[in-house]
Amino acid sequence: MEISHIEHIGIAVESLEKAIPFYEQVLGFKCYNIEEVADQKVKTAFFMVGQTKIELLEATSPDSSIAKFIEKKGPGMHHMAFAVKDIEGALKEAEDKGVKLIDATPRAGAEGMTIAFLHPKSTNSVLTELCEDKNK
Ligand code: ZN
Repeated sequence: MEISHIEHIGIAVESLEKAIPFYEQVLGFKCYNIEEVADQKVKTAFFMVGQTKIELLEATSPDSSIAKFIEKKGPGMHHMAFAVKDIEGALKEAEDKGVKLIDATPRAGAEGMTIAFLHPKSTNSVLTELCEDKNK
């Protein structure tokens, strides 16, 4: 598959409000977008670092995958997202190569991206997201 860069790194936090000041006041990034993704039961906050983003994720419901992740492992690094040119093709390629998919078909993610997750069982335990900006 054709990957251009790391699109973002997803970090699970208990509270955006409590986590944002570290990124703004210590690291000096500016939070440029806060967005709720109802579908995934999360609220996200974004920072730009070069062409890569940091995505903070806060659960909006106890049955959100982020709530479950924090319950099991505590807050911290949650996933890595790669920007791909052709997400349908990339998913098919991964599946053909025996990778277990979480999303068999791409769905809508934050920031107007089309996204799909690969299962950590097939990715050395790093939850891996593929995303394509179809609005470009
Ligand atoms: Zn993500």
